[in-house]
Amino acid sequence: MRVIIAELKQESNTFAPLTTVEDFNGFHLLYGHDVIEKLQGTNSEIAGFLNVLKAKGHEAIPMMAAFAVSGGPLTAEAYKFLTERLYSGIRSAGKIDGVLLALHGAMVSVGESDADGAIIEKVREIVGSDVPIMVTMDLHANITKKKIKNATTISGFRTCPHIDLIETGERAARMLCGILEGTSNPTMAWQKVPMVTPACKQIDFKPGSYRDLLQETISLDLRGAIDSSAFTVQPWLDIPELGYGAIVITENNLSLAKELTSQLAQKMWELRSDLIDISLLTPSQAIEIALKKSSGPVVMSDLADGTGAGSPGDSSAVLAALVAAKPNKRCLVSVCDPEVALLAASVGVGAEISTSIGAKRSFEFCTPTQITATVIRSGVEHFRFTQKGYNGMRVEMGLCAVLEIGEIRVLVTSLPAFTTDPEFYRCVGLEPSTAQIVVVKSHAQFQDSYDAIASEIIFLDTPGMSSDNVAELPFTKIDRPLYPWDLDLVFDARVAL
Ligand SMILES: [Zn+2]
Repeated sequence: MRVIIAELKQESNTFAPLTTVEDFNGFHLLYGHDVIEKLQGTNSEIAGFLNVLKAKGHEAIPMMAAFAVSGGPLTAEAYKFLTERLYSGIRSAGKIDGVLLALHGAMVSVGESDADGAIIEKVREIVGSDVPIMVTMDLHANITKKKIKNATTISGFRTCPHIDLIETGERAARMLCGILEGTSNPTMAWQKVPMVTPACKQIDFKPGSYRDLLQETISLDLRGAIDSSAFTVQPWLDIPELGYGAIVITENNLSLAKELTSQLAQKMWELRSDLIDISLLTPSQAIEIALKKSSGPVVMSDLADGTGAGSPGDSSAVLAALVAAKPNKRCLVSVCDPEVALLAASVGVGAEISTSIGAKRSFEFCTPTQITATVIRSGVEHFRFTQKGYNGMRVEMGLCAVLEIGEIRVLVTSLPAFTTDPEFYRCVGLEPSTAQIVVVKSHAQFQDSYDAIASEIIFLDTPGMSSDNVAELPFTKIDRPLYPWDLDLVFDARVAL
């Protein structure tokens, strides 16, 4: 059997500046056989597809693999360019028996609030109603009617931070092979739950409500599901149909699929008040606590500027608080600011610069900071993830500089790189484990690696477009009522089904 495999992933934050095709180069943009060459054996959905297809003796036809760092919606040009490559590839692939698509599920483009839904709809139109289309998504996907209508099945990650990309790809591919071999008829039910919750609480490696919820999907497998997913949607999507989504797939049993979906949806709703219960400190409060501690590092999450959540990573709010605190212990902080990186390169290592830094792209939310600093390193930098989630994947940081302000070390990048892995600092000679304060711009993913070295983790209340004070962001297009905007909302999953 001949199976199309493709990936087109980006997590959009509708409050963030637009994403272009060039932004995909920060992770990868591959076509044809390069998809297999570069992604085989990595922790990716594509690698999961390949494992199963190979084991079952089916032919994988690689179309494209496009993955960009989280950011604003795709420009109309970027969306058209990428999707046309995908559609024309499928049209010219000859007779095909199945499609495996790795999407994010929370991608938006200018003019298309449900970009993933539109992609599945178009692929369905091209391949026809008889060809199965199995889709994988990030668990932060926003499930919509259009996605459900056009996909045969949708499977989501079951971990957060996400470490099960390959397994998710394998789950989808196994269901496809069951159909192709005539041994299975996966039957999907779904339900929306009118709630949105902060991202920093969405971690599953510590006990708590969120872990309980993800464990529920695994326990559904023991109660008759062949696949199930809790889509706990990322909150920075000012679009219609925003909310949690539950999906359960059974072996040819729609009533059981509906019953189990209702149970999963009810579990989501019951946990809602705990899932929004977070405590955030101001940067100065957090710095005061950290500097009094005898042991470090205290890892502070400037989550409102989270690069994994679509923010540009260019807020200097925490840097400003650090400069004001005049710390006598080592502090590591980063700001994405290509102009300052260029300035540092032009004056060279050892020179002093006085400049305004930050808020070049997030100026509607943040303000720049005036600094005087010494350039102690300058050059083009990259690192590879050592975390389980994207292990081995190369991350481009562009032209960078390390600036010294007393005990503060400022890593200035030109690209909004993920800050979740200690390698982000180590690759420029800065060691997080011996610092007193380490600032990351991440809600959940950083806890996977920093938990082992942090003496304490503090979530900050800072300005930015990926704030976890979601009810304070300027939403205008979401459907209401929606929790937590409407705290008195009554919902019963069993009745809603
Ligand atoms: Zn995610």
